[in-house]
Amino acid sequence: AKKTVTASKLNIDRTMVDKDALTVIEKLQSNGFAAYIVGGGIRDLLLGKKPKDYDIVTDAEPEKIRKIFSRNSLIIGRRFKLVHVIFERHDPERSAKNGYPTFTKHIIEVSTYRSKKVHNHAVSEHGRILVDNNYGTINEDAFRRDFTINALYYDPIAEVVIDYHDGIKDIENKTLRIIGNPHERYLEDPVRVLRAIRLSEKLNLAIDENTYINFRNVKHLLINEPKGRLFEEMVKILMSGSSVKIIVELHELGLPRRVFNLFDKIMFHARPDEFALEVMQRTDNRINDGEDVSLIYILSGLLWQTVNHFWDHEKVIGAHFRQGLIDAIAKTKNLIFNSGITRNLYTGMRDIWLLQLEFEYPGITRIDHLLKHNRFRQALHLFNLRNDFHQINKETHDWWDKYLLAEENELRLELLKKL
Ligand code: ATP
Ligand code: MG
Repeated sequence: AKKTVTASKLNIDRTMVDKDALTVIEKLQSNGFAAYIVGGGIRDLLLGKKPKDYDIVTDAEPEKIRKIFSRNSLIIGRRFKLVHVIFERHDPERSAKNGYPTFTKHIIEVSTYRSKKVHNHAVSEHGRILVDNNYGTINEDAFRRDFTINALYYDPIAEVVIDYHDGIKDIENKTLRIIGNPHERYLEDPVRVLRAIRLSEKLNLAIDENTYINFRNVKHLLINEPKGRLFEEMVKILMSGSSVKIIVELHELGLPRRVFNLFDKIMFHARPDEFALEVMQRTDNRINDGEDVSLIYILSGLLWQTVNHFWDHEKVIGAHFRQGLIDAIAKTKNLIFNSGITRNLYTGMRDIWLLQLEFEYPGITRIDHLLKHNRFRQALHLFNLRNDFHQINKETHDWWDKYLLAEENELRLELLKKL
């Protein structure tokens, strides 16, 4: 049953909300529409965590939203039409680095209430939703959301939270519970199984028994999900700050092979890929310490052992080390071509791998290229991790330690002469 709770009773108020999200809500409401913060934005506030982003829902249809925010908004197509409202923010850190005022884009996602009703032909034989673009009421919108704690609606102007599925109680009890009939809801969308595991580990929530026991009946359906969607989910796992714990849970559940082919070498090998696990552990640590991370670096690290293995093989059969690495990267690319990695990501990963040559075999003529390369930091990071895994000859690593510490040009020149 629907409950409306005063925000102050839940120890939240609008000063905790991102100011751009607040602007969007004010504008929608002053144009006569309803507008709420929903999903992760309000859920994380209530759990006492800093939200990663703020999703907004409204009864205004996309074209109307577009009219209100005009130039600063964009209709996005995907499975469901939604609107991105774009803010430009002054970024003090990047400004200091660049030496001139630098702005970053901040995007607030606004969607129109969605109904669960779908045309018959839009549902597959298993009951999976194929087309999903009917607008509905807030009530219907709350029903088609996945978990009770993700179906809370916060109006920061009126300072109330609307709770359709007892999500506040589940927040208090730290429980993740699916809305409606678990079996049906996973058949509709099997990715909810992955979302449940990710959210429970990331937010330290216990998964309700009924929500959990149904996982096993549907996990095999994940294989048929579009690769791009699975890749997006994998990225969310990698960026959650709990990726290692999540992998352990997925393993325990018996996630089928090839759902996340980048994780298969960790989950399904007698000798799991320790290097990849270490990349994930260090990423978790960085995220939990509030440091930033790079997806391109993480992916390059996850796949490094694959590249390295091919490279070793090339060297054994007598290839020149440079050509050997190029060929090893090509083989790795073939292996992952279907995994959802975009061209942009791949290009960055390849640069990080190729720069390993210049670290491992430093040459006086190439050093400027390396130092000025925009992937230098990330490549150095990978080089250092490889060193921790005893893949680098001690002399070479010591040389780099000295070279990078040497502030003075003269000292650097001395070191270059030793190459
Ligand atoms: P995060 O902190 O990772 O952003 P989130 O819950 O906000 O968590 P999003 O992917 O941003 O996750 O989704 C926003 C909201 O959309 C969710 O809170 C949920 O209400 C709804 N939602 C997302 N994916 C699904 C799904 N597969 N089925 C039903 N509802 C979903
Ligand atoms: Mg979100």
